[in-house]
Amino acid sequence: MALRDPHSYCDDTQPRVASFAWKARVDFASRTLDASVTLKLAQPAAAAGPIDLDTRELTVREAEDESGRALRFELSSPDPILGARLRIELPAGCARIVVRYRTQPTASALQWLEPAQTQGKRHPFLFSQCQAIHARSVVPLQDTPAARITYTAELTVPLALRAVMAAGATGRTEQGAEATEQFSMPQPIPPYLFAFAVGELASKDLSPRSRVWAEPGLLEDAAWEFAEVERLIETAERLFGPYDWERFDILTMPPSFPYGGMENPRLTFLTPTLLAKDRSLVNVLAHELAHSWTGNLVTNANAEHFWLNEGFTVFAERRILEALEGAEMTALHAALGFQSLKDALERFSAQPELTKLRTRLQGVDPDEAFSQVPYEKGYLFLKALESAAGRPAFDAFLRQYLQTFRFQALTTEQFLAFTREKLPGALEKVDASRWLDSPGLPADAPLPRSARLDAVKAVKGAPPEALAATWSPAEWQLYLEVLPRPVPAALCAQLDDAYALTRSRNSEVLVAWLTIAVEANHAPALARAEEVLKTVGRMKYLRPLYQSLTRSQQGVQGARALFEKTRSSYHPIAQRVIDSLLR
Ligand SMILES: [Zn+2]
Repeated sequence: MALRDPHSYCDDTQPRVASFAWKARVDFASRTLDASVTLKLAQPAAAAGPIDLDTRELTVREAEDESGRALRFELSSPDPILGARLRIELPAGCARIVVRYRTQPTASALQWLEPAQTQGKRHPFLFSQCQAIHARSVVPLQDTPAARITYTAELTVPLALRAVMAAGATGRTEQGAEATEQFSMPQPIPPYLFAFAVGELASKDLSPRSRVWAEPGLLEDAAWEFAEVERLIETAERLFGPYDWERFDILTMPPSFPYGGMENPRLTFLTPTLLAKDRSLVNVLAHELAHSWTGNLVTNANAEHFWLNEGFTVFAERRILEALEGAEMTALHAALGFQSLKDALERFSAQPELTKLRTRLQGVDPDEAFSQVPYEKGYLFLKALESAAGRPAFDAFLRQYLQTFRFQALTTEQFLAFTREKLPGALEKVDASRWLDSPGLPADAPLPRSARLDAVKAVKGAPPEALAATWSPAEWQLYLEVLPRPVPAALCAQLDDAYALTRSRNSEVLVAWLTIAVEANHAPALARAEEVLKTVGRMKYLRPLYQSLTRSQQGVQGARALFEKTRSSYHPIAQRVIDSLLR
């Protein structure tokens, strides 16, 4: 028996599933999917024996082979992190397995929204979020990024609704009160990129290969905010090579979406908190686009090597940003990233092993291990390598890396072997083992530098109006984040009077502001924070806002009381994270 991924029952000595055909009926009333999946093996089973699949909270009704013969199966008792192992006994020569099953209303990948939780308030909404290990709560499969798959899908939904998937749409047929939408995903994906959404959705073309989807009432705002997507794609192609996924569509999510974005291939999911009406938050769009190369095309073998996905993607995101907005703006974003890294290092001060880039996650839930460390420490490691090798050599290396591992998954060890060969001496020059296997940050980490950054950091107290008038939202955010804590209530009142921060439309500035102003018990901020927590489910905002509430006069009691009221409006992943924060 060989288990390679600490978060999967996948045994790589058993037959491998190469593709699947999925059919599901979406039932909003019971909040379940009634589904069947036909798993196609890469090779017919050479001998009789078991295949182990990952599941979580699935009610499995039957398993059979391609001729309809029942197959013996056994569902293990569930592990709290991995879920339950579905072991199916295959006869020799078996090439396809059909599993009929139902999901639970609590499926960890799915969020079922009431009409009241949508922008239009008329129809319910359903969406999936499968990263890190939640695909198994929707489809029984070998849920490890090391086992790439292609698939086709058919989703049956209420007639008034649209289904969209991170795949190519191949048709829609309507019958009675229902519609069935068909999809095909020809490019092999790691299972965490399996994604779909169902709701009242409309779309608008942004370029020949990109359109934006949103609820009708949000569509024009979303189309305006993301209008420059083609320029981003072209810039990324110049840097990293051709875009390999044909289309780059965008789905604007409901506000409860737990992440800023999710790089679902062909259909990136983005939080509506990016709709700042000034295009100032397109760095998140650049990030998700960059994943088309780093993460989606070249994928970490499992969550222990997550920095290969996210460190490379932050690096690629900032190369796109630098090409479009220049080095000064990029340095501001890198400085914001560094602030979030400092927070993460502090948060994990009692678990320093989680601040290494190469982690050991046996018995650790990847959602609990999630932090900005793989993102921002990974970015700084790659910046150090870039400066050791020189930019032209590193650019060439990056292209070769993406070409060599295209549509594959790799480990940190494979990355090291490749780098040793292609950039001789570079790993030694930066002393790579300190980055990968030591906690915290090396003292010589290449921190961002720029004149605009220095100007922000030089401000003591409130910024003079003439200076503040020149600030971008990134500078405001940075100013707020580096203010010495706790910020005196008088300074909060002065800042709010002069700059109306409680009314900021830029969600990053707003949350940076509320985080400090709530702690200072600035009354307007307390009320606004409560409003945000009642409507937005993005974990990046929930965490600091709940934390600051616990430090305000509301205390842990007040934060918990609010969470009890808002809990049901959050995605299950976010509920668990805030639960453990307030425990
Ligand atoms: Zn990412």
